[in-house]
Amino acid sequence: MTLRNRLAEITITIEKAMKNSPLSPPRARLLAASKGQGILAIEEAVAAGVEWFGENRVQEAWEKWPELKKRHPNIKLHLIGPLQTNKVREALGLFDVIQTLDREKLAVEIAKIANSQHPVTSSYFIQVNTGEEPQKAGISPKEADAFIRYCQNELALPVAGLMCIPPAGQPPAPHFALLRDIAQRNGLKELSMGMSGDFETAIRMGASCVRIGTALFGERPNT
Ligand SMILES: *Cc1c(COP(=O)(O)O)cnc(C)c1O
Repeated sequence: MTLRNRLAEITITIEKAMKNSPLSPPRARLLAASKGQGILAIEEAVAAGVEWFGENRVQEAWEKWPELKKRHPNIKLHLIGPLQTNKVREALGLFDVIQTLDREKLAVEIAKIANSQHPVTSSYFIQVNTGEEPQKAGISPKEADAFIRYCQNELALPVAGLMCIPPAGQPPAPHFALLRDIAQRNGLKELSMGMSGDFETAIRMGASCVRIGTALFGERPNT
């Protein structure tokens, strides 16, 4: 099956799931998770109509995206992997959206650089560790409200929404519901949740952005 066929199937599934979305109007959009994919596969996705892409590593993104963005100025590039504080400057110079704002030290560093330069980055999602897994990035659900207010009010960061990666091997729906509740009570509109295996559920729970890798590109090349 070609990428174009897989995209067509995903698009149909997204549209069906949106009929049950609590958002009005429903507005789930596909973000292609292109980590490990080469330029040719990405160009194929662009040609098929994909406009949002997500990369996990700042360095890999810098190797691939400056030229791609020049050729396709309407593309929005999101960072969906962890960000080290020493990579903030590079990240703010390339990504349109950073979805993995997950701790105070990182927020402070971002604010410092964003206020002294003109970053490409125009909005942020806060990553919430909905499963409270010790090894996983993200702010704990208990601390999320205070952290959102801190980023918005003290640091003046444009926080657009929330992102989560539910624990492997658990039903994802309760995690998506928790993320939606936190967003709602804080007045945040964007919800990045759902991957290849669970994006229909995520859309039914209110996702505005689903991050899809293998279902679109096929199995990832080893990197
Ligand atoms: C790789 C990745 C995805 C996509 O995963 P698939 O299961 O291949 O769809 C989504 N979100 C994040 C944060 C990822 O790292």
